[in-house]
Amino acid sequence: MSDGVILAAKDLTKEFKGFFAVEGVNLQVRRGQIHALIGPNGAGKTTCFNLLTKFLPPTRGSITYKGEDITSMSPADIARLGLVRSFQISAVFPHLTAMENVRIALQRKRGDSFDFWRSQKVLSEFNDEARSLLNDVGLSEFENTNASDLSYGRKRALEIATTLALNPEMLLLDEPMAGMAQEDIERISALIKRISANRTILMVEHNLSVVASLSDTITVLARGKVLAEGNYATVSKDERVIEAYIGA
Ligand code: ADP
Repeated sequence: MSDGVILAAKDLTKEFKGFFAVEGVNLQVRRGQIHALIGPNGAGKTTCFNLLTKFLPPTRGSITYKGEDITSMSPADIARLGLVRSFQISAVFPHLTAMENVRIALQRKRGDSFDFWRSQKVLSEFNDEARSLLNDVGLSEFENTNASDLSYGRKRALEIATTLALNPEMLLLDEPMAGMAQEDIERISALIKRISANRTILMVEHNLSVVASLSDTITVLARGKVLAEGNYATVSKDERVIEAYIGA
């Protein structure tokens, strides 16, 4: 493992019946960075993300996290190592309040199963921690609002809060801005920036202005392979990248 690399993929490959959706991808995510995975439609971003988060087994290649080979580990096991995919383990319950949702996530972190009938008394142990997490994601004034009544952007913020409840060292975000209005994009961008202060983030994101403003490093995929890598200024000037986007 080279210095500062927290997550590394080597020769990552996924074949679907003779079609290589991802082929020979080498990726190194450095600790503390916001790293974006971009590329035109069909480039292999989702497949790559699903391989890294263990939702799909690779045809070939390996993945290491903090130097440990996680290629054959389950998503739950890698979450215990501190690598968490948002919107995965921490589902949001629509008919519970924002506060209740975060408290359940905190309870899960402790390893308890959640029993609805055990109710408020157990969950109230987590009140202070839950309030602090809601504050972190800008939802303090919505603690008693049902998740189903939150705006789309605030629901995503709540999902991020329930993920943060697991205290991840590295977060994998799948299109955090998908379907959002501009106001929500700004709010979630600021939130990602804030939570990246003491975490590593890898995200797949379509919105290039968000990618430009947030990312330290960008990996551009096209036709299942890494086309370019670097900061936004570098990759956005790369002829092959421009061509891949225009030709897509
Ligand atoms: P992106 O997220 O960059 O748009 P995807 O990873 O979704 O790209 O898809 C990359 C390619 O792999 C596409 O051509 C897609 O049709 C193909 N693909 C993805 N998943 C499957 C699958 N389960 N079976 C067959 N082909 C797939």
